Amino acid sequence: MTVSENHFSEMTLDDERISHDFSASGDPLNPPTDTSAHILIIGAGVTGLTTAWALLDAGFRVTVISKEWASHGSGLRLTSQIAGALWELPPAGCGPQAVQGKLPMVQDWALESFAVYRTIAARATLAEAYGVKMKMFTSFHLNKIDSDALKTAKMQLMNDTGMEGFARGTHLFAKYGVNAASHGGLQDAYEHLAPIIDTDVAMSFLMRLVRSKGARFETDTVHGDILAQEDHLLSVYGADAIVNATGVWAGAAAADDSVYPMRGGVLRVVNDGTDFPKLENSMVVSSESKSDGYFRDMAFIVPRNDNILLLGSLVHRDAWALDLSPASDVVQEMRARCEDLLPMLKNARVESSYPFAQGMRPMRESYVRVELEERKTCRGQQSRIVHSYGHGGAGWSLAFGSARQVLRLVNGALSREEKKKKKMVCRDASMDKLINGVNGQRNGHLVT
Ligand SMILES: Cc1cc2nc3c(=O)[nH]c(=O)nc-3n(C[C@H](O)[C@H](O)[C@H](O)COP(=O)(O)OP(=O)(O)OC[C@H]3O[C@@H](n4cnc5c(N)ncnc54)[C@H](O)[C@@H]3O)c2cc1C
Repeated sequence: MTVSENHFSEMTLDDERISHDFSASGDPLNPPTDTSAHILIIGAGVTGLTTAWALLDAGFRVTVISKEWASHGSGLRLTSQIAGALWELPPAGCGPQAVQGKLPMVQDWALESFAVYRTIAARATLAEAYGVKMKMFTSFHLNKIDSDALKTAKMQLMNDTGMEGFARGTHLFAKYGVNAASHGGLQDAYEHLAPIIDTDVAMSFLMRLVRSKGARFETDTVHGDILAQEDHLLSVYGADAIVNATGVWAGAAAADDSVYPMRGGVLRVVNDGTDFPKLENSMVVSSESKSDGYFRDMAFIVPRNDNILLLGSLVHRDAWALDLSPASDVVQEMRARCEDLLPMLKNARVESSYPFAQGMRPMRESYVRVELEERKTCRGQQSRIVHSYGHGGAGWSLAFGSARQVLRLVNGALSREEKKKKKMVCRDASMDKLINGVNGQRNGHLVT
């Protein structure tokens, strides 16, 4: 079934390049030709759609299939819509964000994404269309940053990259009227300007944009391991390679047992200045690991758009059920944590039409996986699946850097395939030579 998108308005943005390889224009930066390779993307969250954008601007033809799409009613929304979505340099505040070995890689992706968001935010029309703003983000800590090697290294990187508005120190408690005794006692804080994304707006924009650049959308569900049906999918969709961007469902799609959900949730309260002074900046109390290896629930206060403030969050490992409500104990406790941090929120009114959003961060034991499938297909061939999942609590923070990495891997997989084909052509040609030679000799002449 082709997805109908009448509720999305037409692309009207002018041609705007936001980096050397991404353009916000409705046309692809490098238009495809009849011979351009065709990529099938499975999954239409921020990972799948930003990857579609990268591939389309690089000149590929793209089809996106997904079992669900961004929606704007009262039903469950995609994880990508539930996100804060606050840009943070990994390791971020909401639980296990980056296994050490991958930290430099994901920090690069985050910084690449930061640069793109900042460029978008600087252009008024585009910023509104994408729903991104640069706002002050303050991170509070339950330990001294200097006593924590990871946090110290992160501070250093922030200094090196010249984060705008950067400040650090306990004076930030008073600056924002936060309760320094909350969460058992805040010890440290830093802040800087960071992109905050209105995910509902951004998802609509991404769908509109990639569609306008030429992507086809189809509603389809892939059941089980994609590898087992790789040839079938390539043939049905006429594709040359597949990108797996199925988020928390990648456990089945990539036969990867190490994928697990980290349930999160946010209360949506009215931020119009009537119940408390309107908040424009975001705040997080960093979630620390407990002795059992699990992570503490955190306080996460993020202005969504002109009149909604998100109060979060939860970090519930292995929780597949999205069955919480504003009345649930854990949600009440979450609200109490936010109020404890910022007492003025005690008067906050929950927004009645959509009071609570919950979703599953796609976690993975060894964190994000953007890799070419190494297992062979049923026919013993090299696979042409590029996996892109396990972005945890950082899918928006990593989106553009991660999409570029997929693009590199897709190019690699296709050139490997091309080389293989050439080798086969050469082998066929030499076989022909041999056969003709034999026949020629039989017929009394040698064909050279
Ligand atoms: C409460 C909360 C707060 C968060 N805050 C932040 C934040 O501040 N900053 C940040 O960067 N990130 C944040 N995140 C994390 C972020 O939401 C995720 O990292 C991101 O959404 C992952 O995107 P994705 O596209 O990989 O997965 P998803 O958004 O889950 O998309 C997966 C897509 O694949 C499709 N799909 C799945 N399986 C199949 C199948 N078998 N066949 C066909 N289609 C399939 C789905 O329908 C969907 O379209 C937060 C998450 C939560 C829950």
